[in-house]
Parts: sequence; structure tokens; C-alpha cells
Amino acid sequence: MKQLKDFKDNIHSCSKCGLCQSVCPVYKITGNDCTVSRGHFIMLKGLINGELKMSKKLNRYLDLCLKCGACTKFCPSGIDVVDIIVAAKAEYFKTSIKQKVLSFVQKYFIFGLLVDFCSLLKRKTKSKSFDKKVLYFGGCSAKFNGDRAVVKIMNSLGIEVINPSFSCCGISLFTRGDLKGFNKNIESFVKILKKYNIKDVVTTCASCEKSLKDYSRWAESEEIREFLKTVSIKNIYEYIRENNLKLSLKKPAKVTFHKPCNIDNYKDIEWFLQNTENLEYIKMNDFDKCCGLNGISKFSEYKIMTNIFENKRENILKTGTKYVLTSCLGCEISLKLFSRNSYQVHDLTNFIAGRI
Ligand code: SF4
Ligand code: SF4
Repeated sequence: MKQLKDFKDNIHSCSKCGLCQSVCPVYKITGNDCTVSRGHFIMLKGLINGELKMSKKLNRYLDLCLKCGACTKFCPSGIDVVDIIVAAKAEYFKTSIKQKVLSFVQKYFIFGLLVDFCSLLKRKTKSKSFDKKVLYFGGCSAKFNGDRAVVKIMNSLGIEVINPSFSCCGISLFTRGDLKGFNKNIESFVKILKKYNIKDVVTTCASCEKSLKDYSRWAESEEIREFLKTVSIKNIYEYIRENNLKLSLKKPAKVTFHKPCNIDNYKDIEWFLQNTENLEYIKMNDFDKCCGLNGISKFSEYKIMTNIFENKRENILKTGTKYVLTSCLGCEISLKLFSRNSYQVHDLTNFIAGRI
């Protein structure tokens, strides 16, 4: 498994040009270099060289990173900041009892007992049989919302959905730096994949998609890393676009879309929104800027999060649409929290399935 010292060369390749400052939503509010990649890398270089010690303060700066990846896209050195921040968080995790306790609570109570209890209230949807089959990874979102929407959409396009009970994708453990815990999620995912022997996996949640795609890089076991390289992981909209499948809504609807940071296939969602009959898609300004939530960990940074979100709210209102769609449970919660009843927020897949 990768460690912070393995990223030494990447950290050293930062030229300190400062371009990351111009796109970082956190830096725009704090104006503090310690909250953006350039500053993070200066601190982490000190840590690797032994000039600095891991501390609560340093961890707070790492925690402020939303892991949105916006700076990576602009970085002339192409440094993958999210991987480096996670590796640094893993160093802090090793030293912090508080982080271990929080991780334990997340693993066993929030994304364990609570989510499993919610799933008891939802019945599994039986898929129709077709020649084409996909394995659906619903994650926690499907345990809250059920899997009816995905089955309905895919079946109406002539695709069978195999939907076993997967455990959480583990993204909150990953961003906290609990890489051992994250590896348990990877092992459980691989076990189910082997049982069903289907290598076409689709997801609807952006966070699950990001985690699943990260599995092959962060798995401890080489055998698992190699196995995962043979698995195709796609957002269902990527799958739909690739197969040129089209849907039609029963009644016309006008919507806008908030792009979660974790998806890198927005083009497929845009294609889907523009090619669904009776659906009018209004693109909002900065549709791809982070909602500010970063899972649930940013409640401790409420002021910064609120500032980031106010810009998002303004952009939503400018579209004049009643419905804001998104494809990440975290973004959905964040958008709802700040909506002040000015618009409705829906999961993209549930919204579409309810109207076909
Ligand atoms: S854009 Fe990249 S190279 Fe430039 S300061 Fe930021 S992290 Fe360093
Ligand atoms: S990942 Fe996002 S929040 Fe973190 S430093 Fe880069 S732009 Fe800023």
C-alpha cells in the first residue's frame, strides 16, 4: 500500500507556480496558502525531511482540502493532490486515537448498523431477465433509496441488473486516512464480484464510483490489484451513452445539474440529459464547483462550507429551474441543507425513474 514517502518525487515536482490558488474553492475563501496544494506540499516536504512533525494543526489544513481535484486539472506538473493528501492523512491516522474512534463509529455504526437497518426497510427489486447483464453497486445510497430506480431504468433499456448487497464503498475511511479499514471494503467488493462472476459493474453514486476506481491503486494485495484491473467500473450514464440508449419522460421537465467533484464522466451525464426526450437541461454557472460538504467531515468547518455553498445557491437560482439534480448522496444532503426551500434537490436516477 502506498505511503506518504512514496510520493516524495511528486511533492518535489511542485514548481510553486501558484496556479492551484486560482481554482481552489477553499483558498478563495481563506486566502491562506496552507489550505491549498502549494502550501500543503511545502508542509509535507518538511514532514518527509523530518523538519516538521505531524500535528493537529497540520492535519486541520489537510482536512480543509475538499479533495475535489480541481487543482490537479490545472497543475502544470500534473500532481495528483488527492492521493497525496490521503497518504498524509494516513500518517496522521496512525498517531490519533480520536481519528481511530471516529473511524470505528463510522465503520460499525453509521455505515454499518444504521445503513443496514435502513436497508431492511427497502425491498430488493427483482430485475427482468435479458441477455445483457450488469452488476449494480448501489452503496449506502441504494440502502437508503432502494434499487428500484436503477432496475427500472436499466430494464426499460433492455439490460438485466444483478444487485447483491454490497457493503459501503469506504470513501469516508479513505479520506480519513484509515487505509486498513478501506482495504476491508475492497476485499468485500472483490469477494462478491468473484461470486457472481460478472465484470461489468455500474454505479449511480459519484463517491462510490470514485472509490471503486481507486480500489485497484490502493488494494494491499497485488492479486486483488491485478484482478481489479480486469473489471469495468462505470457510472450508469457512461454505460447508457456508450450503448447509445435513449429514454423519454412521460411529462416535460426543466432541470439543472450539480456535478459532484468525484465524477470524471460528466460528459456522459450531459449527453444523457440532452438526449432524453421531454427533458430540458439548463446548465448552471460553475456547475462543476464543489458543494463544500466533502462527505460529512466539514461540519466542523461550517463557516467555510457555508461561504462555498452560497455561491452555489446563487448559481442554482439563476437557472430559474425548480429541480436540481445530482448524483452523490453527500452533495444531495449539502444542496438540500442550504436550499431554504427555493428549489427541490433530487438524485438524478430517482428523478428519471419516477418519470418514465
Ligand atoms: S499548480 Fe501544481 S506545480 Fe503549481 S503550485 Fe500548485 S501544486 Fe505546485
Ligand atoms: S483538491 Fe480541491 S480543495 Fe483540495 S487543494 Fe485542490 S482545489 Fe483545493
